[in-house]
Order: sequence, then structure tokens, then C-alpha cells
Amino acid sequence: MTSIKDYVVEYKNELMKRVNSFSEAPQLAIIQVGNMEASNRYIRNKIKDCEEVGIVAHHYIYENNISEQELIQEVKDLNDHYDGLIIQLPLPSTLRSQNLAAAINPLKDVDGFRHDSLFYPATPKGIMDYLRHEQFDLSGKDVLIIGRSNLVGKPLARMMIDADATVTLAHSKSKLAPHLQGKDLIVCAVGKAHFLDCQNITVPVIDVGINFNENGKMCGDCFNGAGGNVTPVPGGVGLLTRCALLDNVIRAKEKNYEIKESV
Ligand code: NAP
Repeated sequence: MTSIKDYVVEYKNELMKRVNSFSEAPQLAIIQVGNMEASNRYIRNKIKDCEEVGIVAHHYIYENNISEQELIQEVKDLNDHYDGLIIQLPLPSTLRSQNLAAAINPLKDVDGFRHDSLFYPATPKGIMDYLRHEQFDLSGKDVLIIGRSNLVGKPLARMMIDADATVTLAHSKSKLAPHLQGKDLIVCAVGKAHFLDCQNITVPVIDVGINFNENGKMCGDCFNGAGGNVTPVPGGVGLLTRCALLDNVIRAKEKNYEIKESV
């Protein structure tokens, strides 16, 4: 498979060309509540990515004690001024993410936060875009996805089923060992370091996990993936996710939705 780093360079060049075709740059609003270090880091990366391809990102920061009603009103007001809006997760427990998602215009919901968003969530979309680029034809393939979150596993399973793959969606109650056999592709999205031993796995493995090992070093869910068939962490799915968000912002400006309004 093409190295993800090379793919991302090529992808961003294409995004830049699309941005340059507009008379005005696409505008993204990033909404943050509180000051979590991990969120700060993710947002810094998103702003840097936007700058790289010519998208203008505006960062709105609210205090942890903002009420749900106040924040909903803010989000509704911001809808009118931006091509895309994202709300950085996690939110304080006083704010219900579904109520906030409902305040985002589905035509501008570039994180695929709403169930009726016209955009796919960035992580599964990033994985699908990469597989498409690699001409990995999912039709008729047997895929194992480990992890059934609403953010990653479930939407990815749906997208792969729509691409005519046969998908096994495993979770914490699954007997995993038999499902690892006879697959054409494995995606691991569990969030546990040293979870999947890839020593005897020869098919491509997409490692979604972001964990920190005992030395504080970032790592994925997979280990012993010496054959080059496991996507790296860092420098893997995280980069695909970041590219997919940029593509969604540009699509919002182009009104070129991957999910059609009638769906
Ligand atoms: P999540 O909401 O915590 O879901 C984890 C899933 O793993 C759950 O479905 C859980 O099963 C399953 N699981 C836990 N233990 C298991 C086991 N022993 N065997 C099989 N399945 C097991 O996490 P998430 O949001 O999907 O994220 C997963 C990982 O991906 C995290 O490390 C996260 O940081 C990372 N991530 C990375 C990116 C990126 O851009 N690279 C984006 C999103 C997420 P149950 O449903 O039964 O509990």
C-alpha cells in the first residue's frame, strides 16, 4: 500500500487546487468548550491543516460553565457565517452532544455529527478514501471491524456494507479468535495498547487506536505488525481523518455532498 504520508501530501495538493478555484476561501468554525489539553492539541492540528490548504479556521472557545441553551444559541448563530462547523469532543457532562449536534445545520455539519448530516464522519471517511485510492475493491471482501462505536466502527461498517463487503462487527463481548480467520481486511478501533497481536496476520490491518504506552509514547491497538501490513500510529489513520475533515469543509463550500439530501 502507498505510504500514508505520501498519500496525504498528494491528497492535500488536490485539496489546495480545489480551494484555489474559489473566489473566497472556505470558512470553518471550530467550537471548543473548556481547555482540555488533548482537545487543544487536536484543534491546533486542525487549524494548521486548514492553513496548509487555504481554508480559514476560526476558533471559538467557551467556558466550561456555559449552559446548553446558551451554547445551542451560539451554534445556531454561527451557522449563518461559516461553510462548516465542528464542535470539538468531548464536551463537559452538563452539555448533551445530541442537543448541540441538532443545532448545527446538516449542510454544514462537516464532522458528520448529526444522524442526518450530509457528510460522513471523518475517521471512517478517511479510511474509505484511502482504500479507494489504493484500489482496494471492497466488493465481495470479508472484513472484520473490531469496535462498534458510533464515531468509528458502526459508520465504517455501514460504509463498507454499502461498498458490498461482508462485514463482521466485533465488540467487547465477541469471541474474537475465530473472527480473525479468513478475512481480507481487519480494522481495529478498540482504544487499548497492545490489543491485537499481528504476528500471524498477513492481510492489511488498519489500526485506528490512539493510545499511550507505559513510556508515554503514542501507539495504536496493534503490535508485532512487522510485515508492513499494519498502518502506523502515529502517522496513520490520524492523518487520514484530518484530510477527510478538510475534504468535507471544501465539499460544504462546493455543495458537493457525499450523502444525498433525500437519504
Ligand atoms: P470507544 O467508543 O471507546 O469504542 C471502543 C470499542 O472497542 C467498543 O465498541 C468496545 O466494545 C470495543 N472493545 C473494547 N474492548 C474490546 C475487546 N476486548 N474486544 C473487542 N472489542 C472491544 O472508542 P472509539 O471512539 O471508537 O475509538 C477507538 C480508538 O480509536 C481510540 O483509541 C480512539 O482514540 C481512536 N480514534 C482514533 C481516531 C483517529 O483519527 N486516529 C479517530 C477516532 C478514534 P463495546 O461496545 O462492547 O464496549
